[in-house]
Amino acid sequence: MVYLDYNATTPVDDSVMDVMMPLFTEDFGNPSSNHKSGRTAAGVVEEARKKVADAVGMGKSDVIFTSGATEANNLALTGLQKGLGRTINILTGATEHKSVLQTCTILQNDGSGFDIIPVRQDGTIDISSMESMMDDIGSVDVVSIMAANSETGVVHPIHRVAEIAHKHNALFHCDATQAIGKIPFDAYKIGIDMVTLSSHKIYGPKGCGALLATRESRRRMTAILHGGGQERDMRSGTLNVPAIAGFGEACRIAITYGLRDAPRQRTLRDEFERRVCNAIYDTSINGAGAERIPNTSNIRIRGALADAVIARSPSIEISTGSACSSNIMEPSHVLIAMGIDRMAADESIRISVGRNTTISDIKSVISDIVGAVESIRTMESRPEVT
Ligand code: PMP
Repeated sequence: MVYLDYNATTPVDDSVMDVMMPLFTEDFGNPSSNHKSGRTAAGVVEEARKKVADAVGMGKSDVIFTSGATEANNLALTGLQKGLGRTINILTGATEHKSVLQTCTILQNDGSGFDIIPVRQDGTIDISSMESMMDDIGSVDVVSIMAANSETGVVHPIHRVAEIAHKHNALFHCDATQAIGKIPFDAYKIGIDMVTLSSHKIYGPKGCGALLATRESRRRMTAILHGGGQERDMRSGTLNVPAIAGFGEACRIAITYGLRDAPRQRTLRDEFERRVCNAIYDTSINGAGAERIPNTSNIRIRGALADAVIARSPSIEISTGSACSSNIMEPSHVLIAMGIDRMAADESIRISVGRNTTISDIKSVISDIVGAVESIRTMESRPEVT
């Protein structure tokens, strides 16, 4: 089996496991407890907090540990509306993750303003639309744009987004879930106010992540989970110490080994695209014109539905451009926003390589996909027997 779905999730790194294991059985204290075990656990959490903050150039006190990027995105936007105690105006991108878009819809039901910046054909946010929308709306509270898209790998011009947001006194929230460990990312230098991260995309455990929020943005926010007052009252609930420690270690590795491995992954990804396009006619790469994170490829193969390709390639694990929502297959909102039609979206597959991917994985995946497409196209072109 060849796994090429690292943007969906990653295996846990060995040294992350080593950091986590003793925290389940030996050093199992609750960091809120005021005794030796508790203080040991609190020390572990603070060490992880520093590693997470360092990974994105922010301060330790900016880190709010969450259950993952979904919760962090919810906290950034809902926490701001609740903290300001009024309806807010949110500007976000058409290709954002559903945890941003759905949260905006919910906040809109409460009366907040929610406007979507279109993306250009290459998948990048349309900066001139953003500028005119900021001018037209007048008082935007927060702009939420991701650093890199999980489906296409497209990297948004977030330096420009930060500049424009700040010119209009809006906060800039950036979901960096798919960027960290793949491209250099320094929130402080870019001028980001709130950053979302997820552990399981960077070889850490599932069910852990963080929102990093500057003092200025924390001042405008309140929690969405209430209770014991953990995380300086920004997110109540007993901290998941093993996962947090693992996430911290995963962050440390992401910005060292992860970034060092990125050129190798880029070579594998480029080789995949070159070989697929040579072997299969009528193939195009979604988002090819844009800067992309090095590990991701989204390929449209005309005349071969992605589901059919995957069904005929049982020994590879990749994603399609569609998602099952309420039992209906919906085309990817990301591809549709890029102006790709429904049929083309349904004919698109995503591969995302990772640390364990080798050139022989790429070769075997290509031969599976080529075989699958040939058989699908042959069937399609076979005359009907009457
Ligand atoms: N944002 C982005 C850009 C993602 O790719 C994902 C995961 N697909 C999420 C948010 C949600 O992450 P989590 O699984 O940690 O909730």
